[in-house]
Amino acid sequence: MSRLINVSNRLPVRIDSSGTAHRTTGGLASALEGAELEQEQLWIGWPGRAVEDFEDLGVVHNAMEVEGMRPVFLTAAEIDGFYEGYANSTLWPLLHYMVERASFSNAWWHAYQRANERFAEVIVKEAKDGDMVWIHDYHLFLLPSLLREKTDKDLRVGFFLHTPFCSSDLFRVLPERAEILRGLLGADVIAFHTYGYLRHFRSSLLRVLGLESDVEGVWHGGRQVRLGVYPIGHNHLGFQREMARDEFAELVEKHRRELNGKRLILNVERLDYTKGVPEKLAAMRRFLETTPDKRNEVVFVLIAVPSRQGVEEYDLLTEEVQQGVGAINGDFGRVGHAPVQFLHRGFPMKDLAALYTLAEICLVTPLRDGMNLVAKEFIDCQDADGCPGVLILSEFTGATEELAQALQVNPYDVDAVSDALNRALDMTEDERRARIAPMQSRVRSQHSGVWARRYLHDLASVPEREKQVVVADMKPLAEDVVEKWRAGDRVGLFLDYDGTLRDFVDVPDEAVPDPGLPQLLQALASHDRLSLTIVSGRAPQFLETHFGGLGITLVAEHGYRWFEADGEEWTLFNPHVDTTWKDLIRAQLEQASLLTPGTHVEEKQSAMVWHYRQADPEFGRWRARELLDELTQTAANLPVTVHHGQKIVEVSSLQVSKGLAVDALMTRQRNDVAFVAGDDQTDETMFALEPKGVDFYTVKVGKASTRARYRTDITGVRLFLETLREEVERIHA
Ligand code: UDP
Repeated sequence: MSRLINVSNRLPVRIDSSGTAHRTTGGLASALEGAELEQEQLWIGWPGRAVEDFEDLGVVHNAMEVEGMRPVFLTAAEIDGFYEGYANSTLWPLLHYMVERASFSNAWWHAYQRANERFAEVIVKEAKDGDMVWIHDYHLFLLPSLLREKTDKDLRVGFFLHTPFCSSDLFRVLPERAEILRGLLGADVIAFHTYGYLRHFRSSLLRVLGLESDVEGVWHGGRQVRLGVYPIGHNHLGFQREMARDEFAELVEKHRRELNGKRLILNVERLDYTKGVPEKLAAMRRFLETTPDKRNEVVFVLIAVPSRQGVEEYDLLTEEVQQGVGAINGDFGRVGHAPVQFLHRGFPMKDLAALYTLAEICLVTPLRDGMNLVAKEFIDCQDADGCPGVLILSEFTGATEELAQALQVNPYDVDAVSDALNRALDMTEDERRARIAPMQSRVRSQHSGVWARRYLHDLASVPEREKQVVVADMKPLAEDVVEKWRAGDRVGLFLDYDGTLRDFVDVPDEAVPDPGLPQLLQALASHDRLSLTIVSGRAPQFLETHFGGLGITLVAEHGYRWFEADGEEWTLFNPHVDTTWKDLIRAQLEQASLLTPGTHVEEKQSAMVWHYRQADPEFGRWRARELLDELTQTAANLPVTVHHGQKIVEVSSLQVSKGLAVDALMTRQRNDVAFVAGDDQTDETMFALEPKGVDFYTVKVGKASTRARYRTDITGVRLFLETLREEVERIHA
């Protein structure tokens, strides 16, 4: 079983002054614990202190080894430029849409590059063939590509972004935008919390690098990079464990007494500017001003975990919040009661669980947040069958997509947040239960362990390097084939036409071969032990007009008929093909073409095709999807297959395929070597063949996913054929 190497900027460890390592349980560590993976794991990252702080690096190394960790040591200067600088003062604000807070510095960028290199060096040293490397977060954007550059080991490399990915218009502000995207594209699977972030990433790829992407991912450097959406869950098992402890009821009681009969409105966050604490204080003030009847019933508990202390921006934020809280308490407090309790420290999970249990409202109002786990933890800890609390959730968090039944608010809209507080306090028990039930069952079933397992399962299914499609250098490939031919092998070339030998055009009849092509094919086919077959979806007439009489075998209609190189007429591969299904399908395709301007139906002997190349591109695709849906139902019990090709939807007989035709021809021609090239889904039936005793070369033309071994473009196919011709003629001369 492959080993898992987790890579994050910060290791889940604290090292004390004596050099002893203490494991800490950050979000990621507990997610992996909850995933209960069977595979061996290793953790690589920064141990949290500058290398100068350690007296004896060997001691630290050994201490970490015991914990299954390998340190990446960074100097104080590196931490300053890489971590405080580029990661936290450039990328963090920008990814959270706060471009006005982002600072840019060349020196930081260089430190970021160097630090990513450091990580790469440690990983390359540790990794073995077959390992999965899972890289976390924006500190390490360059690492995936660095790994590809620095090692040939067969690694599956995954990347997960825990923050939002901002809109491409903002991302383009980053001076190093192209380098960052290229860095990421070294990964096999790049994952985000929401489809929104994925969408922004895709448009950044398009606008910055000109790269198209779709559900299959993006093709880059001859590799397929998959893109996916994997919303992280919270540590459900950890919270349930805390709540099941004997002492838990007592702890809840203790906090209940502290509340003194007040209704608890709970706020839990790191004190970061993305969390929108000043805006929240403004909403609290508005609420207290506008609801004098409730003012004395409630208490706001504001747990604000200190974050990045010593950084000026954060110190100023702390001051601002302290002043804001003081002002509210000054204006609305009474003897014995302060409406806002500001707790500027972190709390252990058990206390959070108790407070989540007691809270009547959890007020989660970040200005931007990649996910927000506090919202999920609150939902999990509530008693859904009793009189559960209400979640008020900012619409700018990743969690909002999954927690649709929360009261969603715009955190900048002070009145809306204040109204939501009022509404939540008045909400009936029935409505509270109806809202919380679906959210609770969701967060409990999609907890962090499930998230980690799902991602790792997909990363593991990336094919091994030997099985991946490689971009072929067509010249050496041709020389290879010629060498075998010279040694006495019989070579068969099987070439698709449209999209392989010729580009697509709007009117199919105009896609005639350029003058050099028939001549080239004829020259090739004239040699002994070298046969050439065009395997096309076209009708016989077209093939005969352009390629008849050249000594080439022709296969028309996706393998329905063929015309042997020195034959006299077209014959059927299989005279017993059933085509009675065509009437049913014809009606559906004709209906689609009536409803969609610029589309038409083509009828072939063993297939029916709906073409939409001339339709509005978006509308055409839209209608094609609908048609596919309908056809899948109609075709369920028919001997046909339905496929979505290049601007076509095609229904064809299962008894006919290019693969079946090529299989028959290879036997007939007694080929020792076969070279197959095609661009379309129908060509995949040829690539899927596994002919015994034949040296089988499969080449995909274009970017779509494929079973073929090699990939090229139309010019690559041409280069292959021309090289072949030159070499063969040179040998003959
Ligand atoms: N947390 C904690 N103690 C505290 C406050 C928060 O352990 O006093 C935890 C909380 O349970 C949650 C995490 O910190 O799991 C915060 O995650 P979230 O996604 O809400 O925000 P982030 O800080 O990652 O931006």
